[in-house]
Amino acid sequence: METNICKVCHQPILPTYYFCPNCGTKVNEAPLSTSAGTQAWIYTQSIILPMVLFLFITRWPGIKYFKSDDPKAKRVGQIAWALLIISTVLTIWLAYVWTEQTIQSSINSVNTDFNF
Ligand SMILES: [Zn+2]
Repeated sequence: METNICKVCHQPILPTYYFCPNCGTKVNEAPLSTSAGTQAWIYTQSIILPMVLFLFITRWPGIKYFKSDDPKAKRVGQIAWALLIISTVLTIWLAYVWTEQTIQSSINSVNTDFNF
């Protein structure tokens, strides 16, 4: 059987390996899993990621503007909030569409491989 060489530790590795057994370096792209658990994890990340970004806005200056008593500054804060919400919705939507496409294309490639 043909063998490859690990780029990091120069150990011979089988072409079917995804990781070098000696040093753990990734040597091949593992096939995408489309199990229910993986899908649930991807979808969960899609939901959580914008929320994680949301946590960072405690440092976001828009908060100060939004809470300001100055009507002009408050207006800036409101616009900033609206933009933030729009971008969050877009991020969720894009993540969802992208995830769907990735899963679908990997299902298609598996189906082709096994002649379903
Ligand atoms: Zn290695």
